[in-house]
Amino acid sequence: MNFIQTRGCDENSPKSVTFSEAILSPIASFGGLYVPEELPELGESFLTKHLSSSYKELAFDMLEHFDIDIERGVIKDALDLYDKFDDPKNPVPVVKVKENLYISELYHGPTRAFKDMALQPFGIVLSSIAQKRGENYLILAATSGDTGPAALETFKNRANVQVACLYPEGGTSDVQRLQMVTEDAKNLKVIGINGVFDDAQNALKRLLASVEFKKALKEKNILLSAANSVNFGRIIFQIIYHIHSYLELVRQSAITMGEKVYLNVPSGNFGNALGAYYAWKMGLPVEKIIISSNENNVLTKLIKTGKYDLRDSHVVNTTSPAMDILKSSNVERILYDMFGYKRTKELMQSLEESSFYELTSEELAYLQKSFDADFCNGDEGKKYIKETFYKNSYLMDPHTATCMKSYETCSRDGIKTIAYSTAEWTKFSPVIANALTGEIDGEDLKALVSISKEANLKIPDMIKELFTKEIVQNTVIEKEDIEKEILKFL
Ligand SMILES: *Cc1c(COP(=O)(O)O)cnc(C)c1O
Repeated sequence: MNFIQTRGCDENSPKSVTFSEAILSPIASFGGLYVPEELPELGESFLTKHLSSSYKELAFDMLEHFDIDIERGVIKDALDLYDKFDDPKNPVPVVKVKENLYISELYHGPTRAFKDMALQPFGIVLSSIAQKRGENYLILAATSGDTGPAALETFKNRANVQVACLYPEGGTSDVQRLQMVTEDAKNLKVIGINGVFDDAQNALKRLLASVEFKKALKEKNILLSAANSVNFGRIIFQIIYHIHSYLELVRQSAITMGEKVYLNVPSGNFGNALGAYYAWKMGLPVEKIIISSNENNVLTKLIKTGKYDLRDSHVVNTTSPAMDILKSSNVERILYDMFGYKRTKELMQSLEESSFYELTSEELAYLQKSFDADFCNGDEGKKYIKETFYKNSYLMDPHTATCMKSYETCSRDGIKTIAYSTAEWTKFSPVIANALTGEIDGEDLKALVSISKEANLKIPDMIKELFTKEIVQNTVIEKEDIEKEILKFL
């Protein structure tokens, strides 16, 4: 299958490209994104067939339907990385929390957040394409805390790939920072920046667009790519777990085959939610996708009013920082799917030029057939964490907690909900400790120990070890010096 472009095609680019090409240079004509030419139809027979399959068997067969230009052996190797998850037989456990509410846990991978679901296999796929082409790639990553560790983990010691990972010094949790600065491999460079996440993100965008930087890389025989969440190489692996979670509910006799469910997704850049939408279009029985947000509630407003309005808005820091996003990149792929490339180009250009667009009332009605949304502030989130723990014996992180509000306000009686848990409690422990016991401290290690006592949970070894591991990545610089620092590393 080939890939086409959300804003149409300019004169300089081919009408469609292969999967490999779409993931090596993910930005398409007019600043658009690549999308599959058409989505494969799976249908109920596919679901029935995989009721007794393992996660990997399901994943392999789904990828076969996409017919991408990656060899089967490479795909098998990539999927084998799910063996590193807590339970290789079931890397994504789905747990009943209360009547009608099930939580699909996407955080059982090596870095304890849902980014592993896609980045683990993506690392192998990208490295294998680079090797096959005899090319060397520099992968840039900018992180507010979860993408960085997952990207470093997946590309560590892989052939033909080097990674430069930018994070805001002081802007991540202790655990997230330690996951990055203790990563020891010759092909990885971690760079702390005196600034905030936006500084890291802006630097990344500037470098990706810089002709000079690319020229300097070329002299070293290196090409440039990025592991950000618009890359279809990540999206494709985010369709699978929605299908898996549905099948888990059938296996648990919570639903019968064909019964519709809500998929409730804590959202930032909309990759996870897009995966849910594609799974639905490919045949998964879904009632609606519910988008959960924090105080940065642009998506709630879009889905409720049809307006994407960034005028006078700025990012606020919340207790769920992985969702502190205003420009939610993957929404563009939904616009394309619903309204076509001409309208998508018009809307996205309006957003870029005037920080605003508005859907027509027909378009809004159409969007609302598929999506509903609500947002949850930090205090509400902590209340849900506490209540769900003491009432239902289930401990969730602050990102997952945003789903509890929309579960109450958007679900209709009787229809089951699958909500997605995107991080383990260990990654955001100070907020959770505060929610459970009221303690205010801010240090991860203390919070981990106190939650572990309160909730009678073991701190996973890979988290505990971080606090005694040697720090090998010591670079902290001003944002003006990023380019120089990267070239020095190469
Ligand atoms: C990245 C992330 C999200 C947001 O996911 P998107 O696919 O960008 O919408 C939510 N929660 C956590 C913990 C994350 O790391």
